[in-house]
Amino acid sequence: MTDDDYLSLLDRAKNCLPETIQGHERFSLPDLDILQEGKITVIRNFIDITDKLRRDPQHVLQYLLRELGTPGNIETRRAVLKAKLSTSQISERVQEYTDTFVICSECDRPDTRMLKEGRTLVLECEACGARRPVNAKKSTRSDTSSELRAGDIIEILIHDVGKKGDGVGKYQNYLVVVPGTAKGTRAKVKITNMSGTTAFGTVTQDAPTR
Ligand SMILES: [Zn+2]
Repeated sequence: MTDDDYLSLLDRAKNCLPETIQGHERFSLPDLDILQEGKITVIRNFIDITDKLRRDPQHVLQYLLRELGTPGNIETRRAVLKAKLSTSQISERVQEYTDTFVICSECDRPDTRMLKEGRTLVLECEACGARRPVNAKKSTRSDTSSELRAGDIIEILIHDVGKKGDGVGKYQNYLVVVPGTAKGTRAKVKITNMSGTTAFGTVTQDAPTR
């Protein structure tokens, strides 16, 4: 399929949508331009992102540093994070920031501003006028950076062997079950399944993602 074909297909698809959806497209950020330099991760287009979000770069940075658990700073238009981080780790946090501090929960538009009302931070939408407290969207997850997910690669010590002979290790609050590992060894583990605070994984050669 050529680009022209694709574009005309896209046009046709748009014409089939109801007016309300056609009116505005889902807000999307520029792709993160990530550079890995040893144990440092650079977001090269950081200011482009914060411009698009219309938020104070320092506010965005502090959020990312807190969520990712790393020191870092802004250098001209780039954010320099002092840890080895994957693009997906960073983009997840940027998405969370966007959902929490930018996107209007009523109309899904990014045309919002933050106001202080007493001690509460309020998000006011310039498009539809809706208001919501900034933290209302996500309140129960206290420490998202420690949440283990399928696909994560971690390095753990196998400190025990379960009844079925599977190696068992700990990662923060999680018990990680890894078949085929021996007690006392360190293993790089790719998480395949989660069940509450128990994680199941397989041994991998890939570099840890967290
Ligand atoms: Zn709105």
